[in-house]
Amino acid sequence: MTQAQERRPRLVVVGNGMAGARTVEEIIDRVGPDRYDITMFGTEPYGNYNRILLSNVLSGAEEEDGIFLNSLPWYQENGITLRAGMTVTRIDGFAKAVHAADGTATPYDKLVIATGSVPFVPPIDGAHHPRRGFHQGVFTFRTLDDTRAMIRYARDHQRAVVIGGGLLGLEAARGLQQYGVSVTLLHAAGHLMNAQLDATGGDILRRSVERLGIDVVTKARTERILGKDNVEGVRLADGRTFAADMVVIAAGIRPNTALAQASGLPVERGIVVDDQLRVLDEPDVYAVGECVQHRGQTYGLVAPLWEQAKVLAGHLTGTDPTAAYHGSRTATKLKVAGVDVASMGVTAPERDDDEFVVFAEPRRGVYKSVVVRDDRLIGATLIGDVSKVGFLMQAFDRGSPLPEERVRLLFDLGGPPAEVSAAELADDAQVCNCNGVSKGALVATVTGGVRTLTGVMDATRAGKGCGSCKTLVAQIVEWAAGGEVEADPAANWYVPGVPMDKPTLMAEIRARGLRSVSAVFDALADGQEDAKSKMGLVSLLRMMWGDEYVDERGARFINDRVHANIQRDGTFSVVPQMKGGCTTPAQLRRIADVAEKHQVPLVKLTGGQRIDLLGIRKEDLPKVWADLDMPSGYAYGKSFRTVKTCVGSEFCRFGLGDSTALGIAIEERFQGLEAPGKLKLAVTGCPRNCAEAYVKDLGVVAIEGGRWEIYVGGAAGAHVRKGDLLATVDTPAEVMALTGRFLQYYRENANWLERTYAFVPRVGIERLRELIVEDSDGLGPGLDERLAASVAAYRDPWRERDAPVTPGQFRTALPLLPLPAVPVRAGGQP
Ligand SMILES: Cc1cc2nc3c(=O)[nH]c(=O)nc-3n(C[C@H](O)[C@H](O)[C@H](O)COP(=O)(O)OP(=O)(O)OC[C@H]3O[C@@H](n4cnc5c(N)ncnc54)[C@H](O)[C@@H]3O)c2cc1C
Ligand code: SF4
Repeated sequence: MTQAQERRPRLVVVGNGMAGARTVEEIIDRVGPDRYDITMFGTEPYGNYNRILLSNVLSGAEEEDGIFLNSLPWYQENGITLRAGMTVTRIDGFAKAVHAADGTATPYDKLVIATGSVPFVPPIDGAHHPRRGFHQGVFTFRTLDDTRAMIRYARDHQRAVVIGGGLLGLEAARGLQQYGVSVTLLHAAGHLMNAQLDATGGDILRRSVERLGIDVVTKARTERILGKDNVEGVRLADGRTFAADMVVIAAGIRPNTALAQASGLPVERGIVVDDQLRVLDEPDVYAVGECVQHRGQTYGLVAPLWEQAKVLAGHLTGTDPTAAYHGSRTATKLKVAGVDVASMGVTAPERDDDEFVVFAEPRRGVYKSVVVRDDRLIGATLIGDVSKVGFLMQAFDRGSPLPEERVRLLFDLGGPPAEVSAAELADDAQVCNCNGVSKGALVATVTGGVRTLTGVMDATRAGKGCGSCKTLVAQIVEWAAGGEVEADPAANWYVPGVPMDKPTLMAEIRARGLRSVSAVFDALADGQEDAKSKMGLVSLLRMMWGDEYVDERGARFINDRVHANIQRDGTFSVVPQMKGGCTTPAQLRRIADVAEKHQVPLVKLTGGQRIDLLGIRKEDLPKVWADLDMPSGYAYGKSFRTVKTCVGSEFCRFGLGDSTALGIAIEERFQGLEAPGKLKLAVTGCPRNCAEAYVKDLGVVAIEGGRWEIYVGGAAGAHVRKGDLLATVDTPAEVMALTGRFLQYYRENANWLERTYAFVPRVGIERLRELIVEDSDGLGPGLDERLAASVAAYRDPWRERDAPVTPGQFRTALPLLPLPAVPVRAGGQP
């Protein structure tokens, strides 16, 4: 060590989380790594990661690797001594040293405390085991280890209770559903997200959350966790009980002040700091992040800590000695797929002259409100439609001018956009609140040579938190690149984890003879497994190899492992095949017998003209299939599912073609074919369209003169689209041939999970007519041949009842609760 190095002041940072690491980054950005001799302590045994993204890790939207902000080499490269996995137990202010759990003492000249928050665990009997921490099956949601533990547990269990209906609780609940767990959310207050939403907004949110299959119970104060060795349920103060195998407590956070308190530093709700983040009366001790209390305020979001880190770094480096922190205005966004919520500032007018503009459409789950004071936005709530969130955040953060017609704050009404353009934004304007990325940083990345949107997002992390700034990031990148943004290659990849479009991927798989998912990862993704890519690869490999595909059950989703559709309570639904929606008295009798024998709680007709037996336990599936002795109806897979038919010319007086016979023939030939998305078909006997053929992935309509029209790309789910006319043909045989070619072309060319309603417009109906009907490129014979091979490889998956593929295939980890009996309604009575 040189003499100059020896003289360097020692900076010790306790807490290697988002605030601690960001402060160090800011210091290094300003003066380089040599100003201080830096030591960082962190209880967690890792480099610094983006805690916000734990919700995405839980929901499977993000891999663990993707959330790390500073890898271990970063610390080395910057000469930082990282004591990862080491807790500081005491600060000796007199000797100016910190004592760690291993008995070592580390001296400091300047100390930064960045210990974050700890989960708040309300007093609930049974949450803890004496001397053993949490009861088996009880979790909090704060760290990567918490997240991993929850994922491991959820995989083997079926019912979860989440305590807390705030942001964290909702994100936990939605994430757990990913593992087939049925979730009940218990919230002590009267409405969800009560810290951010008013009662109307909270009720609208509740309906949206319930639509996702999460049971919500409000005014629910949990009193006790039930179960001796493992969690078996919870009991509320009012006596109600809820069965559960796991409990996640997400009831809020408290500043982590234990160390400061034990060391005699001033602590109220948090560690008390002044505008320079200096701990009161301690000239060389600072605190930053969620552990601090500044002007009476504590924070639970990242935006404040970016601002605090800047001020503190300016002060510690002397680059901005007068920098002062004045508090932050915070905005939040819920990161739950399928439920959009953003909120900032106040939720209701507070003064007589505050303006309050509200729009509510509960049926659609939409609620929007803004509060304006003195021509400035001081609060906004958006539920169900957050298209204006980028603009509102800008207006809220920067106090930018508002449109005269206030309704424009809630809707785009045409005319010039109210938003500040990318060019007009100041360089230091913060674009991504979650990761603290400014416009200047984005522009510098583009001018530094990165020309794709995802490249800029990867390099800066902008847009990788809650995602609400993505549009603005794209606009800035577009503007900075002078309109020369390059297409993102990943946009055309079949699955995110293998960098190839579908034709290239298929060619490589064929050329190298890759027959299993792990072989594909090994050969084409440098051995990097990607969870989000597995299901897509299974589908593709099964399509390509048929019998020769090497099955690895771990790559499959639960529905595909047990060939049934998992339900909210962890049971399954069984839908036997009924070709073309036709059945026989013998079949109906058998179904009735099975329903009685196995005490099936609900027997229901499906929209696809079949009979659904709901509430079957996993371990009973093979017995139910054996007793039914009918093939699978594929009501669970990304595959060919059903052909709905009307009675057609055989019985209907309007009928122009035998739709029933044709529907049965189509289903017989193409049953169970795996595909990038589910395939629902219909054949209808005349244009009156009783079987809804115009809104199916492929619909066939009989018309005058014994001819048939084939429509493709229709949908009538959350997305509604009338199919495009592919061809008009003379015979059922031609319908069969073109149906086969279309299905095979879709199977080979659509991206994973791309339904036909997106695929058909993407390729264009004219092009599809050329390729499939006119065979302009000579693809026809090849498509026919490969389809025929897939058809020949078809095996009824319910045959696995006789020989399970893995010992645990139909084994249930825990017994289920008795299922609710559904009252049988007397015929014709409501
Ligand atoms: C699941 C989840 C989702 C979130 N989503 C959002 C979101 O969408 N938007 C948003 O703005 N915010 C979100 N947050 C909050 C955000 O993560 C926090 O605001 C941020 O992490 C606070 O940073 P911090 O550095 O103050 O604390 P932390 O990131 O918690 O870091 C503190 C670190 O200090 C360590 N430590 C504590 N005591 C000691 C000790 N004595 N010795 C050594 N080390 C110690 C801890 O182990 C921890 O690693 C989310 C949080 C979670 C858990
Ligand atoms: S679609 Fe036409 S043929 Fe079919 S049932 Fe309706 S009216 Fe009859």
